[in-house]
Amino acid sequence: MGEVVLHGVSAAPGITMGYAVVLDGARNADAATLSVAQRAVEAQGAADALQLTASELERIAEDLREAGRDAEAEIVETGVLMALDPELSARVEALIVDLGVSAEVALREAADQTAAELARLPDPALALRADDVRSVGRRAAACVAGAARTVIEGVIVARTLGPADVAELAPKAKGIALAGGGVTAHAAIVARSLGLPMVVGLGAELLAIGDGEEVLVDGDRGIVVRGPDVGRISVARAEAERRRLAREAAVARRLEPAQTKDGHRVRVLANASTAAELREAMEQGAEGVGLLRSELLFLEAPAWPTFEEQVRVLRPVLSRLRGTTATVRLFDFGGDKTPPFLRGASARGIDLLLDAPQALQTQLAAIVEAGRETDLRILVPMVTSAEQMQAARGLLNEVLGGRRAQLGAMIETPEAAASAQAISAVAEFLSIGTNDLTQLVLGLDREQSKTAPVLDVRVLRLIAATSRAAHAAHIPVDVCGEAASEPGAMSVLVGLGVDELSVAAARVGVVRQWVREMRYATSRRQSQKLLDEAGHASRERV
Ligand code: PEP
Ligand code: MG
Repeated sequence: MGEVVLHGVSAAPGITMGYAVVLDGARNADAATLSVAQRAVEAQGAADALQLTASELERIAEDLREAGRDAEAEIVETGVLMALDPELSARVEALIVDLGVSAEVALREAADQTAAELARLPDPALALRADDVRSVGRRAAACVAGAARTVIEGVIVARTLGPADVAELAPKAKGIALAGGGVTAHAAIVARSLGLPMVVGLGAELLAIGDGEEVLVDGDRGIVVRGPDVGRISVARAEAERRRLAREAAVARRLEPAQTKDGHRVRVLANASTAAELREAMEQGAEGVGLLRSELLFLEAPAWPTFEEQVRVLRPVLSRLRGTTATVRLFDFGGDKTPPFLRGASARGIDLLLDAPQALQTQLAAIVEAGRETDLRILVPMVTSAEQMQAARGLLNEVLGGRRAQLGAMIETPEAAASAQAISAVAEFLSIGTNDLTQLVLGLDREQSKTAPVLDVRVLRLIAATSRAAHAAHIPVDVCGEAASEPGAMSVLVGLGVDELSVAAARVGVVRQWVREMRYATSRRQSQKLLDEAGHASRERV
């Protein structure tokens, strides 16, 4: 077969090559009916795979418990019970022995049947377990496929993935290719943070890729290549080497300030939620953490996390930030970050928290406790009004007990940008979330959108107004959305007066280098020109 190039959209930069690990492949790939003689061996293979899956999940649960993540460990442990469920085994065996389907197909099919039954149950808690059974089936099917198909060295190929899937699978993977998905979906953010190339929106054609097939993922150009030719492989290798050297250079310059050629300082912080991300960010010279998405640490929580659970999870990260800026965002649950106990809730971010004031206060107390040795900043997500900030401030004051923490507002809704002046009066810093802001202003669907056009003048005007409001109130403004590390957007943001950029851990070094290569005066002029030109064009249209 010659090369086949599939076109999608870049969701995380970088080029990688590896063997495909197909999570949702075409079901009929293995459709030949087994001979009667083969069936007993195949059924034993399936039974072994379920056992192996149970042991694997047990190990993951133990690791989670060791990391103090009891709530998630419990969820994973229910997966162990599912893998050992005699009804599931009986179903798998019947499919293999009676119908002659392969172990891999039988495991997925039986898990699907069980999941469909669960989803029909009136008890919502049980209905929610449907996805977990599918995941057990998927894992067991991957075990049957053998070591060559484990995720460790592979490129993940799937229909879609949630942020939790990426966090679990990606640290071992080389890259990710999705048939669906959006560029600012949280799965993409986690991939960028881990420095994993990712392409989304590749369409159903992607799922024709066979498990174990060699593929190239070009996260810069947004393509996936099946059967890459020699020329393309050598370009990919050279690119990977160039990136490795760039990282080394960034590490070597980690102590040099990020300062423009004409002497303007820009603070570069990291978006990091785990100790591994933080380590990478610090190695690349991050001046602290500008966004710790606390909700990513509790995506599988069965209830609002307790004070102790939160302190246990936050402490290992925050203890590495002694005396340094640590910006912890309150739970931004909702959308593609909805834990089981909140499914069905329509509110998001601070609205959801203010509906559960006890849970909000518990979180504030846990952050203050875990971050007691840091220069602590607490960030409020999805703000739409100054009143919400005042309510959060009231609850924070009650738990401070003499300690200090700054309270800042995410400006990521059009309402917040329109109220930036009022919000600046009750906040100690602002942080612009360009991911949500761009999608909300332009009416796009964040989980599916193939673009994030932050340079659209409707978005830029809101960023400019936010920056002016913050400076008039003498408070700093940062950008923690993905635009802060996009080559075309970053200098425009700095030109609009943004003081701090908070970027994925793996991007810290490169962004610091871009700052050193730019001129602040030129950026200011260019940003102003973009606003003026657009203003002029819209006046002409009137
Ligand atoms: C944003 O919306 O830009 C942001 C940083 O928050 P999140 O991506 O977690 O929604
Ligand atoms: Mg957001």
